[in-house]
Amino acid sequence: MSKTDIHSFLTRTLFRDEIETEWTPRFRGSSLPVCPRQLMLGKFMDKPLKKKLPFVADYHMSVGHAIHDLVQKRWARQGILWGDWKCRRLECGVFAKNKIMTRCPVCNDYLLYQEKVVHDEESGFNGHCDGVVWVEELKGFVVCELKTRNSNIIKKFSNERPYESDRYQLAMYSYLIERDFWLPIAGRMIVWIGKPRPEPFLEWFYPGNGKKLYDEQVRLKMQGDKMLAEKKPLEVYGRCKEPEDVGSCPFGGICMSPKKDDLIMDMWQQWNNKI
Ligand code: SF4
Ligand SMILES: [Zn+2]
Repeated sequence: MSKTDIHSFLTRTLFRDEIETEWTPRFRGSSLPVCPRQLMLGKFMDKPLKKKLPFVADYHMSVGHAIHDLVQKRWARQGILWGDWKCRRLECGVFAKNKIMTRCPVCNDYLLYQEKVVHDEESGFNGHCDGVVWVEELKGFVVCELKTRNSNIIKKFSNERPYESDRYQLAMYSYLIERDFWLPIAGRMIVWIGKPRPEPFLEWFYPGNGKKLYDEQVRLKMQGDKMLAEKKPLEVYGRCKEPEDVGSCPFGGICMSPKKDDLIMDMWQQWNNKI
């Protein structure tokens, strides 16, 4: 095999390869702000939707996961991280919930942090919170939403607000953590850590538990469910106001089509015939 062959082998099997991932629109942290219409259309599908994942997108996601692990490890070792834990040695059998911990009480090794799963029964909301950290200066817990962003983006944003999706995600988690675990929440923070270098970083802090944003999202979701139950699919509203907003829509920005009502009614009828 020549050098050129190896090069094209790598290009073909890694850098140009796309893997297919499946997903279903759900009311979860990673798809906020909620689009009740997208959730409804997701219900009409009998199979999960498919999405192509190119190497570069997978690469950025993996870097993001690694940075989450790193931040959680550093806070865990300082004894300021609250949540669930397990020991990496299965024979210890240590699983602990809802507390600040650092080392395994059996083997004394450092414990692994398990992101807190939050859930709301009534609305069906689900999510994983990046971390709940004790901030001595505030004498309280702060719920953290961590994002890795390209350094150039961080420089551009230094005087601005974070993304709307970050704010909603954080508010949903902080409110549910306070509600379900009775933890005194002093505030919530969004932290953007740079790529490829960690600094500059940005943070936004908000006092309180985020209940207002939580209530707004849950109300929209439940209203959508109600309209669908009443067989009024055209009254299940979508979140997009501008054509630019539709990039992340798995239905190809359907609501920007002048035929959207017909398309929605068609999908609804097909779904109705099946159930
Ligand atoms: S186009 Fe926008 S409003 Fe319509 S379903 Fe997609 S995300 Fe929702
Ligand atoms: Zn152990």
